[in-house]
Amino acid sequence: MNVAAEIEKLREYCKERSIPLTQQRLEVYRELVWSRDHPSPEEIHRHLREKYPTISLATVYNNLEALSRMGFARKINPLSDHARFDGDTSEHCHFICTSCKSVYDVDPKTIKGAIVPDPDSFDHEITRKQIQYVGICNLCINNTREGN
Ligand SMILES: [Zn+2]
Ligand SMILES: [Zn+2]
Repeated sequence: MNVAAEIEKLREYCKERSIPLTQQRLEVYRELVWSRDHPSPEEIHRHLREKYPTISLATVYNNLEALSRMGFARKINPLSDHARFDGDTSEHCHFICTSCKSVYDVDPKTIKGAIVPDPDSFDHEITRKQIQYVGICNLCINNTREGN
């Protein structure tokens, strides 16, 4: 994703709705879009603190929640322990490694036999799809092998 273009979209969105866009919200969003590894609020906070030593974790968290409500971020709860956020709000699936807790984007078309439900065949209204595959990533599999 083009970070500058995404930030411009957020600026436009806020301007059109007369929502004040704080510097902190902008920086949280920049960090989220720039980081492609589905960061946790703690990770974003760690990075931002280097530039803004006074920024609190609560501020980061609140801004991520607000960005999610505005449709600029997606909250994913990989293993229902702690939240991770995705700056890419397009329809896509995730693979979550239970060992190293990495979250990767995956294209279900590359997984043979993967079942992607057809919303038209379902008698409820689907407003959002979130498909997660959970397992052990290649890196972790190889690390275990080397350890033996
Ligand atoms: Zn892993
Ligand atoms: Zn993603």
